[in-house]
Amino acid sequence: MIPVMRPWFGPEEQAAVGEVIASGWVAQGPKVAEFERGFAASVGAGHGVAASSCTTALHLALVLGGVGPGDEVVVPSLSFIATANVVRYVGATPVFADIDPATGNLTAKTIEAALSPRTRAVIVVHQGGVPADVDEIRAAHGELLLVEDAACAAGSTYRGRPVGVGAAVAAWSFHPRKLLTTGEGGMLTTDDAGWAARARRLREHAMSVSAADRHAGGSTAPEEYTEVGYNYRMTDLQAAVGLVQLGRLPAMVARRRALAARYQELLAGIPGLVTVRDPEHGEGNYQSFWIALPGDFPMSRGDLLHFLAGHGVSARRGIMAAHLEPAYASGGPYDLPATEWLTANSLILPLFHAMTEDEHDRVVAALYAAAGLPGL
Ligand SMILES: *Cc1c(COP(=O)(O)O)cnc(C)c1O
Repeated sequence: MIPVMRPWFGPEEQAAVGEVIASGWVAQGPKVAEFERGFAASVGAGHGVAASSCTTALHLALVLGGVGPGDEVVVPSLSFIATANVVRYVGATPVFADIDPATGNLTAKTIEAALSPRTRAVIVVHQGGVPADVDEIRAAHGELLLVEDAACAAGSTYRGRPVGVGAAVAAWSFHPRKLLTTGEGGMLTTDDAGWAARARRLREHAMSVSAADRHAGGSTAPEEYTEVGYNYRMTDLQAAVGLVQLGRLPAMVARRRALAARYQELLAGIPGLVTVRDPEHGEGNYQSFWIALPGDFPMSRGDLLHFLAGHGVSARRGIMAAHLEPAYASGGPYDLPATEWLTANSLILPLFHAMTEDEHDRVVAALYAAAGLPGL
């Protein structure tokens, strides 16, 4: 079975974990600090604060922004459900906005339709690694806090620079479904030194002295707990893996973009089939290579997933829509036609670093067979 995704690991990650174990310090410590510096530099941010996941980093971002009960936060429904859930974590209300069906992303115009006098923030998602047009959104909605959910976007670029450059606050994921992985893990990036310092405390129970600093400095003074914090720490075991993975990121992106271009070229022979593409304003890392089926495709999306599985190809339904899930069912009615079209008609094809041309050809051949076409 050809998987949708497979992380790219080598003996370097094993050696890095072995070194951390041999050091005797496995919790958040020097490796996390090193990974934070390296990752922040790679996305052009002033500060990086590692977290246990992107979800917890997004939660911290809303806490930093002072978002709370009575506030509304505009989010795309077309996203992994964590994007909406974090708004609930701070007691605010997620308001779903529609997306541009070509990119899967919010636009200044779709946000406009979701605004109210209570709107405090927007969470813009770079969905599947496709960069959102954040300049346009900032220009139109500059009065709102713009949180970037860059879970999928490590290695994507926007107007020639890394996604995340200039973000008030951005959150990243290192889950194995993304490119750069630490098993589980996330990062908050910001240019604001005060926010970074507070996020560092909040992720460690809001302790005035971190455990790593106490260890390094041999201090015996009692720490203070300055507010109610969380345990959202990353471990040095994870960060050691992350540092190796960070070095692999450019090669991962290059390989994924080459395979994506090959899919785009080969699948152009299936009439009406839509494939995810770079927008005018940037280049994606193709974290999710999605296709959308034309109305006259001979199989339903569900039947096609089944057919592909029968041909040894593991595909996935397209990006979910949170407003269609029971957790958000009570919030409607919703008017999100582009979201509903894309989530119902799209699927995600296998794409991973070590994918061979033969595997790639098998996916394409199965799609041609499903379309009732003779193949290439
Ligand atoms: C994966 C993902 C998340 C959650 O990331 P975790 O690290 O698993 O918490 C959030 N938002 C988007 C858009 C994602 O794709």
